[in-house]
Amino acid sequence: MSSCVFCKIAGGEIPATIVKRGDGMLAFKDLNAQAPTHFLVIPTTHVGTLNEVKDSGQLGKLLAFARDVAQEAGIGTKGYRVVVNTNPDGGQTVFHLHLHVLGGRAMHWPPG
Ligand code: AMP
Ligand code: ZN
Repeated sequence: MSSCVFCKIAGGEIPATIVKRGDGMLAFKDLNAQAPTHFLVIPTTHVGTLNEVKDSGQLGKLLAFARDVAQEAGIGTKGYRVVVNTNPDGGQTVFHLHLHVLGGRAMHWPPG
């Protein structure tokens, strides 16, 4: 999708701090970090939201990739949070599927 910011990051058209590349997946630092460690995991081909995912295997790969990057970032043992904001009530602002991975501080519950 030519106008999608995360497609542009996946295509190298706009810069991002890439943390890890995987098979059809990418992790990069969130521009507006909400925790000492905050990165996003995306599929490199466009999917708008969690609702549009057709292949549940893709979800498993994205989640395992997020787990691996968290471990490699050194937050696996102390802990981290994986969030998928979906559509407006879920707080989604960029409509290309992404998993937020947040860590490096204690998270609060319930989220806002
Ligand atoms: P969401 O509100 O769940 O859709 O999250 C979108 C996230 O993308 C926000 O945390 C933004 O800070 C982040 N974001 C938007 N544009 C960029 C960008 N160009 N590079 C890195 N992160 C971005
Ligand atoms: Zn996209």
